[in-house]
Amino acid sequence: MTAWLIIAGIFGACMGSFLNVVAHRSVIGRSWWGNERSVCEACGHVLGFFELIPVLSWLILRGKCKNCGAKISIRYLIIEIICAAIAVMIFYKYKISWACLLMFVGACGLVINSLTDFESGDVFDIFAISPGVIGLLIRLAGGWPAVLDGIEGAAVGWGFFALIILISRGGMGWGDASFMGGIGAVLGFKFTLASLYIGIMIGGAFVIFLMLIGKVKWGRHDTMPLVPFLAIGCLVMMIFGTGIFAKLEERFLYIAPEIFLTSWPF
Ligand SMILES: [Zn+2]
Repeated sequence: MTAWLIIAGIFGACMGSFLNVVAHRSVIGRSWWGNERSVCEACGHVLGFFELIPVLSWLILRGKCKNCGAKISIRYLIIEIICAAIAVMIFYKYKISWACLLMFVGACGLVINSLTDFESGDVFDIFAISPGVIGLLIRLAGGWPAVLDGIEGAAVGWGFFALIILISRGGMGWGDASFMGGIGAVLGFKFTLASLYIGIMIGGAFVIFLMLIGKVKWGRHDTMPLVPFLAIGCLVMMIFGTGIFAKLEERFLYIAPEIFLTSWPF
């Protein structure tokens, strides 16, 4: 098991490194497919194999380009470590299963959409929706109820923001709706609802915190990236959702058992 977890961690770090590049290049409008090499953004030095190893390269180079000494953003190191941790947690929880694959695809969606939203305030529909499409295909392994649960998750995730946009007449972006629609197909109905709740609570608490320390002023319409907060909510449900809902069902079983729809694969 330990060996598997280490492999999952290394895989996660590599995935993080890749997603980071894809997100950043999408934001600055460079293509990330084909054979465009990774280069130092300061001097154009083409990075060699040993400068591209996730986590280790950054640490060995101490965050500086080997050629020109320009600082390499600590973002790379942080994202790679976060992705390694996410992969280990998902594998630890789901072992080798369809659910593990499903959650891993979902987690990649969380990371890349958080990165583009954080960097540029944009959610790219292709990155928002494709995890959902792949998720529904994986759900086929669980039969029709599993696919239906995914469709319900997508509908509630997308519908929630669509409703807010309609009511507030454009107070929020369609990117958030695409993101929650896509990840909703991965998470299923009840995890999507809970993720929305947790994500918006954390985002709201963060805004209030920024107002209290004077970084954001009351009544100003600053836009803040919401996807990273929603992603935290989704991640909490991916790792702890089953346990949380088991506790809730135990506690509220005699009040409202029917609101907890059965869902695959949990
Ligand atoms: Zn350089």
